[in-house]
Amino acid sequence: MTPDARILDGKAIAGAVRSDVAGEVGELSTTIGRAPALATVLVGDDPASEVYVSNKHRACEEVGIESVHRAVPGTVGQSELEEIVRDLNGEDEVDGILVQLPLPDGLDAGPVIASIDPMKDVDGLTAENQGRLASGSPWLVPCTPAGVIEILDRSDIPIEGKEVVVIGRSNLVGRPLISLFLDRNATVTACHSRTVDLPGVCRRADILVAAVGVPGLVGADFVKEGATVIDVGINRTDDGLVGDVEFEQVAEVAGAITPVPGGVGPMTIAMLLANTVKAAGSRR
Ligand code: NAP
Repeated sequence: MTPDARILDGKAIAGAVRSDVAGEVGELSTTIGRAPALATVLVGDDPASEVYVSNKHRACEEVGIESVHRAVPGTVGQSELEEIVRDLNGEDEVDGILVQLPLPDGLDAGPVIASIDPMKDVDGLTAENQGRLASGSPWLVPCTPAGVIEILDRSDIPIEGKEVVVIGRSNLVGRPLISLFLDRNATVTACHSRTVDLPGVCRRADILVAAVGVPGLVGADFVKEGATVIDVGINRTDDGLVGDVEFEQVAEVAGAITPVPGGVGPMTIAMLLANTVKAAGSRR
């Protein structure tokens, strides 16, 4: 059956963001006399993390951002790893620092993230950047939530005054999104695993965002007719990659919907590139 909903094509929107970023990189390179640079820190040899990091390097190259890579053995000590990050803080020609997560067992990500200079924190995960966002003066914002807002903006879906329901309250996705929607004058409801009558709460939403990690959690009974549904979930199942939303069912009720794959996923790297340019621009 053909879905009734408008499909929000994250891949195309991410392409538009990347092409804007490429333009900004060109201008900035002239102003600062070098290409902006993103440092990646990869600890250990987890194959999935290696793929994520090499995708980031390729994306950087495509828009003219320089990559500086630190491949660190999984046997590294906690304080040695934090020292590697602090060294990158001190490198003048590094504009952004990304520590690929999760870290191998035995290493604590919290203090490693806390070692990143907030001005170079292109993942927006330091307490300073999270606090700035939560208090209404965002600087570098986590990439996936920023990508959700970008999809809505570039699809001309208004946010101000709308009822927004976000399912999920992680530091990586849910919480930053809640702050971003509040900043845009939406009326925001935060749902989580203890929410009573989740479908009923979600049916209030003009914009419903699922950032949970439970395949197919959001069915048609969660969705008000004509609502916009953004599926952040990425779940590997026997049927391949699926989101948190029952796409086929929900697409018959929703007004607009992001697919998985090809929705929010491609936006994350695009917003990382945008954050790197933002960080570089602030250091000129
Ligand atoms: P997370 O840290 O595990 O957080 C999941 C959130 O969902 C928690 O707040 C949890 O509630 C809530 N939750 C779990 N089960 C629930 C249920 N049955 N009903 C209602 N709420 C429930 O996950 P995350 O890092 O935010 O990631 C969420 C999803 O997004 C995952 O599928 C992840 O792979 C995906 N993701 C995608 C991208 C991308 O680039 N597209 C980036 C990051 C993450 P409690 O707080 O009560 O435990």
